[in-house]
Amino acid sequence: MKRLWAPWRMEYISRGDLENDECFLCEKQKNPENDDEDFVLYRGEHCYALMNTYPYNNGHLMIATYRHIGDFTKLTKAELVEMMEITRIAVSAITESMGAQGFNIGFNLGCVAGAGVVDHIHLHIVPRWGGDTNFMPVIADTKVVSEALKETYERLFPYFEKNNIPRGFDEV
Ligand SMILES: [Zn+2]
Repeated sequence: MKRLWAPWRMEYISRGDLENDECFLCEKQKNPENDDEDFVLYRGEHCYALMNTYPYNNGHLMIATYRHIGDFTKLTKAELVEMMEITRIAVSAITESMGAQGFNIGFNLGCVAGAGVVDHIHLHIVPRWGGDTNFMPVIADTKVVSEALKETYERLFPYFEKNNIPRGFDEV
């Protein structure tokens, strides 16, 4: 079976992480001092980037707005622009540090489209390598995955630091 684009499968599972009904994308942005444990890679003015802890592939990132908002049509220009700007950094970081050969980048909007969290907009960035389609299911052991996440986080973090975006998106 060939699965090319199904990050929602893992995201759906990740909802089991939550102790209560709180939105995990609101939760993860609360404590900057815990960014390494929360796998938060980058904090912009309007959006932030974090690793998907139930990745479809190694290096699967998400870029979310700080605002708890599910209606894509209500995003501000500043949010949209910064989301793409962080995507640019993510693509370059993952390409340079992990040698990704391609990417799937996209939104799942609404339950029927497979969104695990429907009311908080987030963009998936999934790096791709030739022959990778069954990579994560094969090593889907919790410990292996969490160590792989730490290693990937440490690998990517310096690139995000280096590529820190100059502020001023509100002027766009
Ligand atoms: Zn939220």
